[in-house]
Amino acid sequence: MSPFKNIISARPNEHFFDLPPLPMTPEGIARDFQHYYAYTFGRDRDCQSAYYPYKALAIALRDRLMERWKGTRHAYEEVGAKRTYYLSLEFLMGRALSNAMLNLGISDAAAKGLYDLGISLEEIAGNEPDAGLGNGGLGRLAACFLDSCATLQLPVRGYGLHYEYGMFRQLIENGNQIEEPDHWVRDGNPWELERPEFTQRIQFGGHTETHKDNDGRDVVRWVNTNDVLAVPYDIPIPGYRNGTINTLRLWKAAATDEFDLGEFNSGSYPESVAQKNAAEHITMVLYPNDASENGKELRLRQQFFLASASIKDVLRDWIRLHGKDFSGFAEKNCFQLNDTHPAVSVAELMRQLMDDHGLEWTQAWAITRKTMAYTNHTLLPEALERWPVRLFERLLPRILQIIYEINARFLAEVATRWPGDNDRQRRMSLIEEGYESQVRMAYLAIVGSFSVNGVAGLHSQLLVEGLFRDFYELWPDKFNNKTNGVTPRRWLAMCNPGLRELLDETIGTEWVRDLSQLERLAPYAEDADFRERWHRIKQDNKRCLANTVEQVCRVSFPVDALFDVQVKRIHEYKRQLLNILHVIHLYNRIKRGDTRDWTSRCVLIGGKAAPGYQMAKQIIKLINNVARAINNDPETEGLLRVAFIPDYCVSLMEVIAPGTDLSEQISTAGKEASGTGNMKFMMNGAITIGTLDGANIEIREQVGDEHFFLFGLTAAGVEARRSHYDPNGIIAGDAALLEVMSLLESGHFNQFEPGIFDQIILSIRNAHDPWMTAADFRSYIDAQEQVAAAYRDRERWLRMSILNTAHSGHFSSDRTIAEYNRDIWKLASVTPESLGG
Ligand SMILES: *Cc1c(COP(=O)(O)O)cnc(C)c1O
Repeated sequence: MSPFKNIISARPNEHFFDLPPLPMTPEGIARDFQHYYAYTFGRDRDCQSAYYPYKALAIALRDRLMERWKGTRHAYEEVGAKRTYYLSLEFLMGRALSNAMLNLGISDAAAKGLYDLGISLEEIAGNEPDAGLGNGGLGRLAACFLDSCATLQLPVRGYGLHYEYGMFRQLIENGNQIEEPDHWVRDGNPWELERPEFTQRIQFGGHTETHKDNDGRDVVRWVNTNDVLAVPYDIPIPGYRNGTINTLRLWKAAATDEFDLGEFNSGSYPESVAQKNAAEHITMVLYPNDASENGKELRLRQQFFLASASIKDVLRDWIRLHGKDFSGFAEKNCFQLNDTHPAVSVAELMRQLMDDHGLEWTQAWAITRKTMAYTNHTLLPEALERWPVRLFERLLPRILQIIYEINARFLAEVATRWPGDNDRQRRMSLIEEGYESQVRMAYLAIVGSFSVNGVAGLHSQLLVEGLFRDFYELWPDKFNNKTNGVTPRRWLAMCNPGLRELLDETIGTEWVRDLSQLERLAPYAEDADFRERWHRIKQDNKRCLANTVEQVCRVSFPVDALFDVQVKRIHEYKRQLLNILHVIHLYNRIKRGDTRDWTSRCVLIGGKAAPGYQMAKQIIKLINNVARAINNDPETEGLLRVAFIPDYCVSLMEVIAPGTDLSEQISTAGKEASGTGNMKFMMNGAITIGTLDGANIEIREQVGDEHFFLFGLTAAGVEARRSHYDPNGIIAGDAALLEVMSLLESGHFNQFEPGIFDQIILSIRNAHDPWMTAADFRSYIDAQEQVAAAYRDRERWLRMSILNTAHSGHFSSDRTIAEYNRDIWKLASVTPESLGG
């Protein structure tokens, strides 16, 4: 960290930081744009690449963020604000440019400034790569939350990892998923600011030693460790037109400058340098598993690296302002853990408070339990993190000691409450005994936190009835629900400018800040002229989506057809399979001439499969093969089109959501914790076909039963059915399903690829199919028939569409964050000195 060894002695005078505010006019922005293009990047008229215009504009905007960023930092510090730190291994941010312009309120000015230079803003914006530092819903939620925190002017900082490679790019070759590394920072990231002066040193390995200090107390030292540096990169998070810019701080791993002198002197220079590289591998790549854990050592390293660096950063700042007096720390700080991925923070905060700052166990534990809060995101057993004790011992020996001590004290508490109930102690232990003992990270998070929340009403209820039941009995007040939301800036105002204009004109502009205002749209559902305008906007958005589908899939989607869309990670519980069975059923109907009162349909499916998830990859292949068979059959012309859209990501969703008529939310009831894709679609006027799962339940409550297409078993119904589930009986008793299975089993969709769908077929016919696809088939097909009929009644459909948007206000992440703040964080909002914008 050589640049910071030498501190300059000359101090700048008081005018050094006096800079005039930057202009927010078309001319001012264009001027800066030209400047960066010509002088910073040194390009001229010969440059063909559209990338440099993007970068030049990004830096011009970043300057404007920068001046407000500083103001926000100072405002927080001046009032001594209480703060929350949102710890997450994933932030699925997408693109930043259009969002920065929207939130700064300079979209029109920038467009005009560039237009006057003969440049299209839209074209420039399309050249920004997505920041894909997340898998799916959990990572995107973190991104929406940051936007809402800044908009509500809450002092919240995101902490995450600066992965060199984000979510892989998905290609489809011969119907199969191909993964391509996403080296998203290769050409530099104009939105980040490296902060080497805040570098932290993170320990791994080694062993512990106990000493007596001067007062005769035991002090533990963690020694002989292999250290790695954590270098922070700050990304500005602008609030909506309020002068607030919060921070997302991402840690990147760097080797310490020390070489292993033993190896160095024995002539193994390359080996000792290679060790440096190993350190940097920690933040090389995002693990591409959504809703499952693969238990790799490097993943645990990532988790501890994030926890340790972030806590050190927070404590460093505390000490700078308050010295080593931690008595007021818990009143001023809160850590929100996004799932168990950063749960090791509980033990790491204990360690730093005790070993680095001299607190006693009881003081440190009191602080920890008042500052940590945990959000659970899933009930799926394969997603529950457990780490082998043996791995902890080798990688984080001091942390394991602390976890053992937390557990011993916790189990004593359990024994006091339920004397002699050994079975309960075994059930609740942070250590799962067995062939290989494991640390239960969810239990560590619960025991170390003052708040535990689920992410939708049903999910929170199932948590306390099932997975966390014992803990709920012990601490009922810890548990609460916070139904997810999405930011209406990105997911309505930014991605659907046509609708934004109509909304502004109809109900004013406050809805962007207060989405409950959308309720005022409801009466317009009865206004025929308004419906016509609504229709035209939707058709324009469908045209836009159809162009994208045509370009990337070579499938043409006529815009008069019903656009039926399911985009999300590919997972068995999300049941893309059920969707494709319906598509095959429609195909069967076409082939047998059963097309009276037909509604023409375009089915779009997209999503990535975890690279090691074989079944999910086969489902992708099946969708592609079914699509090829149907699209190539002349009899389907004008009736049915099917496409799999590759590389589903945030910027693609920004095109898909506005152009969708029907939103498919068809998970097995009780399996989808919340869903957030469902909310983006609803905001943009799509109607949902869905099960009573996750936030679908609340969507239906908000919009009303008659404006939602419900089907399928309830969560309780699913569990009740398991003992006597008989898919083969169901198939035999349902002519339509039998016909679908027969076509699938005949090899019609895999003529020169024998057997490739056998596993899928077996899973549907398996009495132990956890997702019970066959059980919901009939009810799904019937609901789809109602969808088709509703779509043929254009005025009815438009009414439903308008009402879906009108009642979507509840699903703004502003509402979610206001609830987190009211019940958990209790932060005061802080308004920085205004620069405007
Ligand atoms: C919203 C979103 C998700 C989450 O979708 P679900 O349907 O809730 O699973 C995943 N990926 C991307 C890119 C998203 O924008």
